[in-house]
Amino acid sequence: MEFINIIINQKTNYHIVHSKESTECERYACSELQKYLYQSLNYPVPIFSDKCQKRGPEILIGNARNNNYMKLLEGKTKEAFLIKEVDENIIITGNSPRAILYGVYKFLEEFIGFRCFTKDCETYEKLEELKIKKHYELIQDFSFEYREVYFRDAFDGDFASKNMLNSNMAFLADKHGNKVKWFNFHHSFSDLLNPNEYFDTHPEYFSLVDGKRQKEHTELCLSNEDVYKIALEKVRKWIIDNPECDVFSVAQDEWMGHFIKMACECDECKKIDEENNSQSGSIITFVNKIAEVIKKEFPNKLIHTFAYQYSRKTPTKVIPNDNVIVRLCNIECSWSRSIEESKEKDPHSESAKFYEDLLNWSKITKRLYIWDYAVNFRNYLLPFPNLRTIDKNIKLYKKLKVQGVLMQGNFSHGGGGYLDELKSYVTARLLRDDSEELDVLIKEFCDNYYGKNISNQVIAYINLWEDHVKNFDMWLYDDADHPMFDEVMIDKSLILLKDAYQNADLDKKMRVEKLLLGIEYLRLVRLELDYPNKEEKIEQFRTKLLEHKITEIFERTALDYSIDVMKNSRYAKDRPNWYSLYYIMK
Ligand SMILES: [Zn+2]
Repeated sequence: MEFINIIINQKTNYHIVHSKESTECERYACSELQKYLYQSLNYPVPIFSDKCQKRGPEILIGNARNNNYMKLLEGKTKEAFLIKEVDENIIITGNSPRAILYGVYKFLEEFIGFRCFTKDCETYEKLEELKIKKHYELIQDFSFEYREVYFRDAFDGDFASKNMLNSNMAFLADKHGNKVKWFNFHHSFSDLLNPNEYFDTHPEYFSLVDGKRQKEHTELCLSNEDVYKIALEKVRKWIIDNPECDVFSVAQDEWMGHFIKMACECDECKKIDEENNSQSGSIITFVNKIAEVIKKEFPNKLIHTFAYQYSRKTPTKVIPNDNVIVRLCNIECSWSRSIEESKEKDPHSESAKFYEDLLNWSKITKRLYIWDYAVNFRNYLLPFPNLRTIDKNIKLYKKLKVQGVLMQGNFSHGGGGYLDELKSYVTARLLRDDSEELDVLIKEFCDNYYGKNISNQVIAYINLWEDHVKNFDMWLYDDADHPMFDEVMIDKSLILLKDAYQNADLDKKMRVEKLLLGIEYLRLVRLELDYPNKEEKIEQFRTKLLEHKITEIFERTALDYSIDVMKNSRYAKDRPNWYSLYYIMK
C-alpha cells in the first residue's frame, strides 16, 4: 500500500489553502484544521488563499484552486462532503460551506482520532506522523437531513458543529455555516390568525366544536377560503421578512388536544376529515394549498406541520406536498422499549398504534420528521434509561425513510437530566450515521468523559438500568413511586457509582458526582415525610445541585419551589398550583 506523508516528525511541505472567494465558514474550517493538526502533531501547517502561488502539495479546502471535485457529490444532500487524495494534494470539499467544515472534522476524526464528546471534553491522539493512503477517497452523506438534539448540552455551537448537528436550537453562527433555521418552530395557527384580532368580527374563521365557534383553545376553520387567504399572506410576509429561515410552520396549536376537542367540525371540514378517516385530512389539505403557492414563489422554502395528538393518524386520501414537512410526535409511547419491541410485546399498546401511524405516514410523505423524547420531564434527575430505545428507534426511523429527527431531552437553562451528556453525544452520532453501534459509542464516551479507569463501573451502572427497565413501561412524566424504582436498584447503583467516584481522577470526580445526584434525588424523595433530618438532607442536596449549576429539576419550574415540593410531599408528587400542558394525559 502506497502512502503519502503529510506531516512527519514536525516537518511538512503542505499548505492549507482556501479559495479567494471563500466564506467565513471555509476560513474557519482552515483554522480548525490547523489548530487540531498542531495539537496532535506539533506543527502549524500554514494557511494561504489560492491567490498565492503554489509552493508545494496542498490541502485544498472547498473549491480552492477551482478543484471542482464537488461534482462527485452531485445528487447528494446539501451537507454531503468529500475527502480525497489527488496527485498528493488532499481535497476536502462539500455541497455547502457547512458541509466543508464537516469534512474537516471528519478528516480529523479519521486521521488524528478527534472526537468532541461534550463542549468541555474532546480527544485526539498525539502523533509523530500523518500519512494518507494514495487514492484515498471518502464520500459521506447523512442518515437524516435534519438533526436536532434538543438538549441544553447540545446547544453549544462548537459541540453541534463538531458533531455535525444542523439544529435550529443550537447556537450555530456564520463560522459554523449556520443551520436549518425554523421560523416559529412550534405551533402556529394562532399566529396566522389570532382569535383576539379576528374572532369578534369573524367567528366563522375558528373551530366549530359541538355547534359553537370557539375563541378559547381553538384551531382554525381550515376549509374557510378567507382563512386560507389571510394565512397565505401571513406566510408570504414571514418568508420575505425572514430570508435566513428555511422552514415556516403552518401547524395546529397545542391546547391539550388529548382532552378537549379542538378541530373544526363544520360541514366542510368534517367532510374532508371523514373522507380522510382522520382529522389530519383538513390540516394537510390546508397546508398543501399554502405550500403549492409557496413552492412557486419561494422554491427553497419548506412548510412544516404537525401530526400530533388528534391529527396523528395518517389521512387516507390527501398526500403531503414535496415541500411539506410532516412532524410526527410520539408523546404517547413508552420509552422502556423501542417502538418495534413494544409493538411485539403488546399489539394494542400506544407504541403499537404509533408504529402504525409512522408506517402509514412514511408511505405518503417525502419529508417525514419525528419529534421524539428522551428524559423524564416531571423529574429531570430520575433515571430514564432509554439509550437502547434511542438507538433502535433511530434505526427504525431510517429504515422507514424518515428525513429528520428532533430528540427532546432536558432543554432547560437549569441543566442536569439523567445522562444528558451521553445521550446528546450518542443521538448526534446516530443521526449522522444510524449504523453506528451503541455499545461502541457508549464505551468511547465513558472512557474519555469519566476516564478509562472507571468507565467499566459507569457502563455497568448504565446497563443495570437499561436491563431493569425492560420489565416495565416508562413514560415521560413518571413519578418516583414508579415500580421500576426500588431499594435494590438504589443500593446497586450506589455501590457502582460510589466506587467509580472513589477511583475517578480528580478532574473527573464532579462528573461522577453528577450521576450520583440522580440516585440521591430518588433516595430522598422516597423517604417518609417524617424521616429524621429529611429537610436538612434536602438542603444539603440543594447545595450540591447548585455546585453543579443545576437550577431546574422539574420542567419549567423554579428550584426553590421544587425543593419545597421535595420536603412536603413524598415522591415529590404533590405540586400545588403546578401546571403542565402534558402530564395529566395519562
Ligand atoms: Zn371548518
